[in-house]
Amino acid sequence: MAGLTYLKDVVTLALDEQRCTGCGMCLEVCPHEVFQMDGRTVRIRDRDACMECGACSLNCPAGALTVKAGVGCAAAVINGMLGRKGASCCCAE
Ligand code: SF4
Ligand code: SF4
Repeated sequence: MAGLTYLKDVVTLALDEQRCTGCGMCLEVCPHEVFQMDGRTVRIRDRDACMECGACSLNCPAGALTVKAGVGCAAAVINGMLGRKGASCCCAE
């Protein structure tokens, strides 16, 4: 089963492990569990699950994450920041 995989190998998500402090914020905000802790820092567990909502990049205090968020996802990002449900923009639930 393909699951929540979008286009393969075109995701713009990038993690700078040198900057990551391991605060865990990206694990909290990512609706698709793209990250996982790996010792002191996080690592990208499943890049293809990323739907580029931008929440991780916006919430990373260390500036370790970059992602080119889709314009249509802005509302979802805002909802995510406000802690609302429905922070995922690309898959209706
Ligand atoms: S939010 Fe940023 S600093 Fe915190 S664990 Fe994630 S990548 Fe690292
Ligand atoms: S852009 Fe959104 S889906 Fe992709 S890793 Fe960041 S929080 Fe997760």
